[in-house]
Amino acid sequence: MKILVINAGSSSLKYQLMDPYSGRVYAKGLCERIGIDGRLTHKVIDENDETVLKETREIAMPTHSEAIESVLSILVDEKFGVVKSLDEVDAVGHRVLHGGDKFIESCIVDDACKKAIEECIPLGPLHNPANLKGILACEAAMPGKKQVAVFDTAFHMTMPPKAYRYAIPKEFYEKDHIRRYGFHGTSHRFVSKRAIELMGKPASELKLIVAHLGNGSSLSAVADGKCQDTSMGLSPLAGVPMGTRSGDIDPCIVEFICNKYNMSPSECLTMLNKKSGMLSVSGKSSDFRDLEAGAKEGNEDCALAREMFAYGVKKYIGSYAAALGGLDCLVFTAGVGENDGKMRAQICEGLEFLGIKIDPEKNTVRGEERIISTEDSKVTVWVIPTNEELMIAQDTAELCTK
Ligand code: AMP
Repeated sequence: MKILVINAGSSSLKYQLMDPYSGRVYAKGLCERIGIDGRLTHKVIDENDETVLKETREIAMPTHSEAIESVLSILVDEKFGVVKSLDEVDAVGHRVLHGGDKFIESCIVDDACKKAIEECIPLGPLHNPANLKGILACEAAMPGKKQVAVFDTAFHMTMPPKAYRYAIPKEFYEKDHIRRYGFHGTSHRFVSKRAIELMGKPASELKLIVAHLGNGSSLSAVADGKCQDTSMGLSPLAGVPMGTRSGDIDPCIVEFICNKYNMSPSECLTMLNKKSGMLSVSGKSSDFRDLEAGAKEGNEDCALAREMFAYGVKKYIGSYAAALGGLDCLVFTAGVGENDGKMRAQICEGLEFLGIKIDPEKNTVRGEERIISTEDSKVTVWVIPTNEELMIAQDTAELCTK
């Protein structure tokens, strides 16, 4: 079976053609500068997951339709193609940012699904319109092909009201659906499911914390395989400080800055989303590798940025262990979580009282599935590489073969 996985952003579109059962990727790539000019980068992947061919093409992409058409055309290209005809593509799975409180799981794209994605645009104003455009463009280019929407928020819909409600007047919840939604749900679901398999115990006996730490970062508390709480909120701006996002701040800061610097709330939020976090504290970079290099050279701001990140994540781990009433398993995933052993050690330092003990030797692991805690650690600490595309492909296959 071959599933085309699409992750459409406002001016970019990532894709992978993959087998949902083996996880084999046949081709992947990226359309950039949609609505500006347009560039396609396409890679053909072999069975060892190595890139065997790479092609970059400048193609006019005034809309997502041209981007999708360029993807479909290179997938069947004589030299760079990986299928003879699009009939070999069984279905298309789309990453959709915001499913609001309407979607607790992935769904086949039909009129009701498209309408619901549209209704969630006020909650996901940057991503949902692009996600919908990706769906409509695929529909137009491959009429009749089954499509599935996989929501970033869905995994978190099992949170109880005490975790998802904000203590603000009820009408904002009832009329405007303002509540905690959480994001990276596809990753949290993939990684927690895998951790439960690896722990070899029933989900009902396991309390987990998943730390998805990348350019964007979020944590989730999972019991009985279900999300109980998560650090992102109505939007992905909430939670720990991130690459360029502030994470949790006192909301009064927004009013203060707007008044003093004559900024609109939306300008202020752009600053909090794009110019804050590690980038602003270090004054150098949002990339954790650059921060590490800076700290090594004695740059105190780079060291402080890393310290603030570790401290923010540590506080969430402590609070989620309390919320869950115990902890069996802590999982690190995503770019930083999978690769940055120093950061993992910094986060776990001082958490021995919770039963978290890292083995420095095992903690040198990068990008592979492995236990990094000591034999006598009460909590099993894992590195588990995330694979959101595979999760999307698996959901798509499951729904389309029902
Ligand atoms: P993601 O958003 O999951 O792609 O993660 C991106 C972040 O992962 C960037 O800040 C990178 O600095 C970080 N990252 C990727 N590889 C490494 C590595 N080998 N060591 C430290 N950080 C890394």
